[in-house]
Amino acid sequence: MDVRGIGMTSQRTRDRLVRRLAERGIDDPQVLDVMGRVPRHIFVDEALAHRAYEDSALPVGHGQTISQPFIVALMTQLLMQKHPRRVLEVGTGTGYQTAVLAELVDSVFSVERIEALLVRARERLSVLGATNVRLRLGDGYAGWRNEAPFDGILVTAAPREIPTALTDQLAVGGRMVVPVGSSGTQELKIIDRTPDGLVSETIEYVRFVPLLKGVQPMEGG
Ligand code: SAH
Repeated sequence: MDVRGIGMTSQRTRDRLVRRLAERGIDDPQVLDVMGRVPRHIFVDEALAHRAYEDSALPVGHGQTISQPFIVALMTQLLMQKHPRRVLEVGTGTGYQTAVLAELVDSVFSVERIEALLVRARERLSVLGATNVRLRLGDGYAGWRNEAPFDGILVTAAPREIPTALTDQLAVGGRMVVPVGSSGTQELKIIDRTPDGLVSETIEYVRFVPLLKGVQPMEGG
């Protein structure tokens, strides 16, 4: 994964990020390892690349953001507790979270509603050689019916309420990680499908961009 000249400096700043994630309570060794390996700087504009290993969200255009590394690590850790093999991600964005998941599970299916973001995410993921990822332009409210069920579903934009199309696509024994609520602050929830039905728990308060309806194709496309 040595792209765009990752040198010692970049590895040192990534190691520092991993230490910070551990201090904040991320304790799954495989999640910490992956956070230390996936080059976040290739998922942001070159002008922001020097801030890529700060623990903060960054703007990525189209009114969207790349999530804060701590939140990516936390959501990934919560999902991995169920050892999923097939995972649906709603909200590809830059593809950074997708790349993290691709290192940990067999197959990642990711849906994005803004075509321009999807095109760039596809390029970046192919540079990294992530071959177990499928991306699709679509409205993630509907999930990815043809590929369901999934052992894990990770939603990286906030719906006001949990979309039933998504819980319907969750396998028994599977877990969905999703921020739920109106703009401003949301509750990060885990929703487990048990043999007896859905069980949900709130983990903490978070801030995500809203999950929006419909798709935004590229102009002239
Ligand atoms: N996981 C991303 C974070 C992206 S921010 C990353 O690591 O970069 C949330 C993303 O969700 C945005 O790209 C936004 O366009 C997308 N999104 C919002 N509503 C959506 C919907 N209904 N279906 C699919 N994607 C959606």
